[in-house]
Amino acid sequence: MTMTGERRSSSTDAAILEMVRRRTVTTRVEISRELGVTPATVTYAVKRLLAAGLVVEAGHARSNGGKRASLLRLNDRARWAIGCTIGSDRVSVVAVDMTGALRSRAVVPLGAGAEAGDVAHVLDRALSMMEQDRELPTTTGIGFALPQGGAGSTARLYSALSESLPHPTVSAASPLCAALGSFWSGEQPEAGLTATVHVEEGIGLALLRDGAPLLRAGTVARSTMDHLCVDPAGPPCRCGGRGCLHQYSSSRAIARAAELREGLAERLGLALTEASTESDAVLVAVAAAQGDELAQEALEPALTALAQASWGLASALAVDTVVFSGAALQAAAGLVREALAEHFASRSAATGHAIDVRVSQVQPHPGSVGAAVLALQTFMDPSPAIRS
Ligand SMILES: [Zn+2]
Repeated sequence: MTMTGERRSSSTDAAILEMVRRRTVTTRVEISRELGVTPATVTYAVKRLLAAGLVVEAGHARSNGGKRASLLRLNDRARWAIGCTIGSDRVSVVAVDMTGALRSRAVVPLGAGAEAGDVAHVLDRALSMMEQDRELPTTTGIGFALPQGGAGSTARLYSALSESLPHPTVSAASPLCAALGSFWSGEQPEAGLTATVHVEEGIGLALLRDGAPLLRAGTVARSTMDHLCVDPAGPPCRCGGRGCLHQYSSSRAIARAAELREGLAERLGLALTEASTESDAVLVAVAAAQGDELAQEALEPALTALAQASWGLASALAVDTVVFSGAALQAAAGLVREALAEHFASRSAATGHAIDVRVSQVQPHPGSVGAAVLALQTFMDPSPAIRS
């Protein structure tokens, strides 16, 4: 078999697995019809997937005259994947099964200036915590969500880690992982173009078309919303521009806005260190959601700038749904959605293109869930596009 042939059959397998996952149960005829491939191709591919234990027969469809078609469903216990986000001060780990369902999760704190050895240790602890809950049968691999905008240290940690871990690993930028996690958790429409705007130390964008990444993983890693101008008269930025989005909406900017408000940082117990920006921003968001007016004032400019930049992009790309994710935004989901949706609605009134605004609710971290999904998909579809 040629390389192209192998690749083609593996992408057929992946498409079938994805369709069976979405439908819960389906038949060979439905697969053939929906994917537009010949019944013979489907028969052959399903035989391969049955042999690999990835799908199982699940009884028969109700007869409508002819021979009753046998139903197929995913064998959810066949494969597991681990997803991991290495934050500046914590490691968040999840385990998902074949269907993308979250089976186990753990969040373990990470000391400042951690080395690969420390992360490996933390990961080990997290894995053993999860294995206590239930045995994890066949872990296919570990996906890592690499945060954007943080020091290059995460990428260095990841490459050191991936060499020492016993499982195969794959990584992608956290906006892409957040988008996949959100899609697999059913937060995004199955069809069409959706944008995920992910806010952490940096602000990133990932686009999915019918659930598949529109840009290659490597391209998403280079893509950033950080330097979109939201105020030409704003403060100068290191990029040479002024009033760039990250100066208002990154977790660092949110923490700094809180620091500038009399007594707020002390009251909320913000650590205000290099490594704490993400957790500081979460504390501000939680207080804002609980009605703390100073915290709301600190959060407001971040949301206004974020709405401005995101609406412009979504409108340019004719996106129907924008999902916002990131620890701080998710900590104040209701308030954040209201503010963003109001901005989107008022501007969309002028263009006539309504855009649905959502805030991701995937816990503990959509990036971790998405990274696990990425590991599953890498196993299902070993195409080079998704491999980092
Ligand atoms: Zn800039």
